[in-house]
Amino acid sequence: MATVTKKGGRTPFIAGNWKMNLDHLQAIAFVQKLAWSLRDAKLDYGAVEVAVFPPFTDLRSVQTLISADKLLLKFGAQDVSAHDSGAYTGEVSGAFLATLKCDYVIIGHSERRTLHSETNDVVAAKVAAALRHGVVPIICVGETAEDLEARGASAVPVEQLEAALESVAADANIVVAYEPVWAIGSGQAATPDQAEAVAAALRAVIATKLGDAAAERTRILYGGSVKSSNIAAFLREANVDGALVGGASLDVTEFSAIARFRSHVGV
Ligand code: PEP
Repeated sequence: MATVTKKGGRTPFIAGNWKMNLDHLQAIAFVQKLAWSLRDAKLDYGAVEVAVFPPFTDLRSVQTLISADKLLLKFGAQDVSAHDSGAYTGEVSGAFLATLKCDYVIIGHSERRTLHSETNDVVAAKVAAALRHGVVPIICVGETAEDLEARGASAVPVEQLEAALESVAADANIVVAYEPVWAIGSGQAATPDQAEAVAAALRAVIATKLGDAAAERTRILYGGSVKSSNIAAFLREANVDGALVGGASLDVTEFSAIARFRSHVGV
């Protein structure tokens, strides 16, 4: 079986963003099935990290299951407040996510930027909030079809990442997800070459802002219509360290196959 090794000792990372799908009962059933599927396939969790991102209302159930059954799956939230506590109706604090032992939180997803008008400043404040509480932010960046046409693929993601890293320390533990907006949920993924070119540009931003060591160790994911049939090609790219998966993460069989991308490499 071919292997994927990444510079800087970066462990490939497969993350499933459920968005507003699956209630807490469905979440328990899903995580159990996913864990069984990966156990049956003898997935080496040391060689690939797998995480699910359920809605807030599912997190406690998912955490309890993972902890009780000593599962090696990771989990995280889909958003976090920029504030730690107070009069912010409907928001969820990074302190609460930390108490729930969330490993990660997705920040700046294009749906938050578009539907909830999250600016680069808001994204930067949320990144700071996650880091304050020891929750690793997955910072999402990506260009729209109009941006792509007007400015090429890298310009907007680079600007968004520069803004998000403004007050991040050089030793911070972060993950970056490059998600071209035109590829999300469209069935039309970027090509591996396109993903690699932008991922390389984003790694250069990390080097400039946080230093070479941070650039070397930080994982950069690709997201946008990833499926089991195209994941391996992305993971072969030098600067792509995994995937943020939307629609396909809601199908246990498909998500399990994506997590087992190593068995497709070289096929
Ligand atoms: C996403 O929304 O983060 C995403 C990548 O969605 P999809 O995989 O469905 O394109």
